[in-house]
Amino acid sequence: MPVLYAQIIVDISAGSLDRVFEYRIPGPLVGLVDIGTPVIVPFGKSDRPMKGYVIHITETPDYDVDKIKDIVQVTDSELAIEGQLIRLAWQIRRVYGGTMNQALKTVIPVRRQVRQNIRRYYRLTEDEKRLSGYVARIGRDKRYKARLSLIDTLKALQKDGPVALEALKTRCTAGPSALKALVDDEIVEELSQTQYRMPVKARLPEEAPVSLNAAQQQAVDGIWSDEAHFAHLLYGVTGSGKTEVYMELIRRVLARGQQAIVLIPEISLSLQTVSRFYSRFGGRVSIMNSRLSDGEKYDQYLRAKRGEIDIVVGPRSALFMPFERLGMIILDEEHDGAYKSENTPRFHAREAALWRARICGAKVVLGSATPSLESYTRALAGMYGLHRLTVRAREGSLLPEVSVVDLREEFRLKNKKIFSRKLHHLMEETLRRHEQMILFLNRRGLAGFVSCRSCGYVFKCRHCDISMTAHAGGWLKCHYCGFETPLPRTCPQCGSPYVAAFGTGTQKVEQMILDEFPQARVLRLDRDSTAKKDSMDAILEKFRNHEADILVGTQMIVKGHDFPDVTLVGILAADLSMFSGDYMAAERTFDLLTQAAGRSGRSGKAGQVVIQTYQPEHYSIQCASRQDYESFYRQEMSYRQMLGYPPVLHMMVVLVTGRLKSDVSSYIRLLAADLKQYAQMQGIDDMILIGPSDAQVAKGKDIYRKVFYLKNKKLPYMIKAREYMEEHLRGSTYARSVSLQFDLDPMSMY
Ligand code: ADP
Ligand code: ZN
Ligand code: ZN
Repeated sequence: MPVLYAQIIVDISAGSLDRVFEYRIPGPLVGLVDIGTPVIVPFGKSDRPMKGYVIHITETPDYDVDKIKDIVQVTDSELAIEGQLIRLAWQIRRVYGGTMNQALKTVIPVRRQVRQNIRRYYRLTEDEKRLSGYVARIGRDKRYKARLSLIDTLKALQKDGPVALEALKTRCTAGPSALKALVDDEIVEELSQTQYRMPVKARLPEEAPVSLNAAQQQAVDGIWSDEAHFAHLLYGVTGSGKTEVYMELIRRVLARGQQAIVLIPEISLSLQTVSRFYSRFGGRVSIMNSRLSDGEKYDQYLRAKRGEIDIVVGPRSALFMPFERLGMIILDEEHDGAYKSENTPRFHAREAALWRARICGAKVVLGSATPSLESYTRALAGMYGLHRLTVRAREGSLLPEVSVVDLREEFRLKNKKIFSRKLHHLMEETLRRHEQMILFLNRRGLAGFVSCRSCGYVFKCRHCDISMTAHAGGWLKCHYCGFETPLPRTCPQCGSPYVAAFGTGTQKVEQMILDEFPQARVLRLDRDSTAKKDSMDAILEKFRNHEADILVGTQMIVKGHDFPDVTLVGILAADLSMFSGDYMAAERTFDLLTQAAGRSGRSGKAGQVVIQTYQPEHYSIQCASRQDYESFYRQEMSYRQMLGYPPVLHMMVVLVTGRLKSDVSSYIRLLAADLKQYAQMQGIDDMILIGPSDAQVAKGKDIYRKVFYLKNKKLPYMIKAREYMEEHLRGSTYARSVSLQFDLDPMSMY
């Protein structure tokens, strides 16, 4: 049997993950040592025993074999939390690529030691005799005046318990050395307590607990008692009470002495969402999000590790909270693109959640009103338990009535405004009834893109297939590649002279509302208006308190918010997300429209939704207008089947970048050719390779970018191919001039 070596990191807490040491695995320990296993190793010149964690096992060590020492022993048979996270990192790296170090930094997100806020408290010893003896001894000596004064101050202040250092300082001028002497002499006891930086400061309203309806109860019981599945899909229409299901499950998890992670897309992490968890579970809840300071993040991490909290609510990164007794991971809005990491390793939080749950025996619940095609396919295949909530939970709350308005028809009837006649009419009605409305502008496409008002034709860059934007002086510009061309006078498709920049951002929409409805009170929610920390919560709170009639916004407003007085939702142009030119465009459009429509009529009053579009016949719009997920799923799946896109096949983007165009071109051609040959030799004859070609952004900041796409049904083949390519570049003369990146099952095209 070959000798095995382990790569080990010691002192994981210091975050010095870059330093890896190699040790030999002695015969008796082979089989006991695995990725993540905690071990004791001899460290440094004096062979001081240190605890470390195994991050890699190999037959070919990098260091001099003769100098490598043996692992002394394996410490625990049970995998501690660090070991679990290391194993998770290893799995993420294995599937998504990148280096082990990048993967470790992903799962152990606290990179820098952040200074802890520690408060110190003091009290006199309870041993009266000792104290009086000490005072008698030092009393006559002038040099100990400071100590005596401290003792007197403590006597006076400590009636209500230990005295904080700050309080002591304000009442007594004695310096720190006197205090230290008293502590050293065991006359004064020093106590310390970590002061955590608390991310939620607002006082939150109490929420009356609801009693679950039959469908919710059935979902809870089903998920709780199902022995056959550890992962479940909770498919419930907007407002069907999924959050209540999560909370009841969490209550049970906590009652069993376990902990829970609730993931939500960052964008929907509003005070409202968080407050529901706080008012149900109090101080056992913590949150994570990108707006927290490093100190706040570090403290939440510490509290989790010390077992002082049991629930964390947060985006993707909250998945790596160091809970020792993790019982459940919930992904709300599991279809959301925010769950895919945009940094290497480009992992999907859903997959990582499944792995983490497997490692520690937890359950996973994926919730959505519009499940990802991936998850629904798995549920139908029996890989996940499937639970449906088909009606809205709140008494009298019905799904809204949806109308689709053809913008081409509006134009024919000489309506050149951004509000169709139907929407205009309903806006009037809603204002008259003193109810609220949301106007949604999908800006996933580009603000200011130019289209034909007559046929809907969109001007795209001939180099990038991306919609161009209007610029001053009658020019069209591509904001990816910089290509410019004069704005044509007529539409190349239908000859109409009405080509113009589409009403741009939310700001412009706001102005148009005020032109039409001067009496309306308008709030705007977009990236500009929420740039400041906490301003998003403030705007949402204002709207909830009915301090405005109309909320105008982008994607941000459609996610998860619950506004009881909203009875009208207007989607100003539903098409824009379909021009982004990638295979998920229809799914994204369907999700957005369904979610947006789901904001209307949530509490008893009849809700209306108007979808304005140039493509009223497109199935994503038709299905969304009927809130018909099943039928969307079937049509979209047949499209993916036909073109071999995920989830039918796995797809991997292989991106080659470099400063020299010729190097990038030659290398990617060489790589593609060699990979084809390798696949054949391995007997993988159904590997599909598309390209190479320029990436959508063919050149960015003087770096050239080329891609090809790889497709296959089997994940192990994709992993094998990636490993081959990594090796290929390492052994190539191009290793210095180009770099290689991978994105497995990407959520957009490159
Ligand atoms: P979802 O997460 O599916 O969008 P929520 O859990 O936010 O739905 O519930 C929507 C609304 O219905 C909330 O205001 C919630 O308080 C209410 N609700 C949920 N379950 C019940 C129930 N069993 N009885 C009464 N109201 C409920
Ligand atoms: Zn036209
Ligand atoms: Zn371009």
